[in-house]
Amino acid sequence: MSKTLVLEYDDLTHLAPENCLSEIDELVSRHPNIKISFFTVPMMRGVPLSNDPNWCARIRKHVDNGNVCLAYHGFLHTPEEFKTLDKTECELRLRFGESVFKACSLPACKVFRGPHWGLSVAAVESLEKLDFTHLYNHEDYRHLVSEKLTSVYYNWNLKDDPPKDDFLITHGHTHDVCQNGIKQTLDKVSRFIDSNDVTYKFVYEV
Ligand SMILES: [Zn+2]
Repeated sequence: MSKTLVLEYDDLTHLAPENCLSEIDELVSRHPNIKISFFTVPMMRGVPLSNDPNWCARIRKHVDNGNVCLAYHGFLHTPEEFKTLDKTECELRLRFGESVFKACSLPACKVFRGPHWGLSVAAVESLEKLDFTHLYNHEDYRHLVSEKLTSVYYNWNLKDDPPKDDFLITHGHTHDVCQNGIKQTLDKVSRFIDSNDVTYKFVYEV
């Protein structure tokens, strides 16, 4: 059966417990053509990714090999970070995030998901202004649509078995939360790939 798979996880950073480099290495070694997208936090708990150049280099290698793509997941990942900020604050945090990615020489695509899905009209306007292309959104915020942004909704929460659909967009985490952590669901994902004719897409290719 031919399936398209957008495999994506939330919360990537170099800090524990969200650092999942060993699971990335494992997935790439099992499935050399795999594409995995990560909604990445530039400054989780106030610590920028640039604090760990060695980690950045190992992620960069996966990016260069075409296995990994990074997208934006807020800036600090405070609770519902982008739900209550005004437009200027949203824009500033997106620009700060971009500068952290640049400082690490880690390319990030202009695809966004709010921490804890949090979103507002101001946040959407700031994404439009900064030429973001995709918003990975939640049903709760379906009213916040934008003509300039492609809105995307997951249909396979990795805690569950895959739905019958031919086009699958996952929802999972880089750490063990919500029963859909990358480590906890790795064998399930791997089995799915082994038993289907899978075409991979990054989050910006939808
Ligand atoms: Zn998150």
